[in-house]
Amino acid sequence: MTQTTSPTLAIVIHTEEEFDWNSGFFRSNNSVTHGDKLIDFCEKLIVLGAKITFALDYAFVNSANGTKVIEHFKTNNSNHIEFATHLHPWVNPPNEDNEDQISNFNSYPGNLDKDIEFEKLKTLTNKITEVCGKAPVTYLAGRYGIGEHTVLSLTKLGYKTDVSISPFSDFSHQQGPDFSHFNNKKFEKDNIQHWPHTTAVVSLFPFIERWFDKHPEQLEKQQKKSLNRLLLKLLRVKRQRLSPEGFPLNDLKKITKTQLRLGHNNLIFSFHSPSVQAGLTPYVTSEKQATEFYNTTAAYIQWFITKQHGIITTVQTAYINKVKANYND
Ligand SMILES: [Zn+2]
Repeated sequence: MTQTTSPTLAIVIHTEEEFDWNSGFFRSNNSVTHGDKLIDFCEKLIVLGAKITFALDYAFVNSANGTKVIEHFKTNNSNHIEFATHLHPWVNPPNEDNEDQISNFNSYPGNLDKDIEFEKLKTLTNKITEVCGKAPVTYLAGRYGIGEHTVLSLTKLGYKTDVSISPFSDFSHQQGPDFSHFNNKKFEKDNIQHWPHTTAVVSLFPFIERWFDKHPEQLEKQQKKSLNRLLLKLLRVKRQRLSPEGFPLNDLKKITKTQLRLGHNNLIFSFHSPSVQAGLTPYVTSEKQATEFYNTTAAYIQWFITKQHGIITTVQTAYINKVKANYND
């Protein structure tokens, strides 16, 4: 069977509570008020041809607004939707103690003790299965924080795909994971498929983009040297995420074209669910920005389908199609 070479896009929404991202991690910060806006936003995208993977965290699934969103999509357009898992350890039982605030180190699930990470993941998986009526098979770690024990826990709980890798990025200076050795290539390891959250190194010069694609670890390395940092600036080298959060339509198109030119045909477009409502994330602070945020997202999806002849899929469907294709080969 010939495998499709059309560019494939998954839209992954970090579906979670609203909180001030710069003020630490608190168990009590579990409010969800953007349910209606999220339903409306996603329904409009589905009309345009979108499929959506909701990576759900515990606070969202456990809230009245969250349940409303899930119930809505269980009965409307359910074949356009995937319910996946997103672990924010600070709002996810079981809790080790009664402290409200969780340390920065423990906000990355992969930093937790192996058994604690597993128990939290299991509790969340069971909760999603109960509320959504189906076991999740796609995982996104909170703060992209996968750790050395995560993959084993995922396989034990029946997961097939992880989307936590954030290429070209080293979060170790803030106690997080180091992904600086990864580009956007999808790969399989220890029975888990890894589909990176599309993050591109873009430049005025395609040969520079190609070089960083082959040597991803060099970006963080060169940025640490002041002379080379200046050179990277002159070459207009930037790291950008395929997300409407902080990136206008032209950047999103450029990121996409760069990746397709490099042969990375599987892309992830992502954002945080509270960004659909004004005033809940740093990216969308006014009604005007909320409108722009929707317009950028909608225009990108239309451009991807019509101009790039792309296919939009959920992460799970892409996995199933891949298994089928391998089987038929
Ligand atoms: Zn999150």
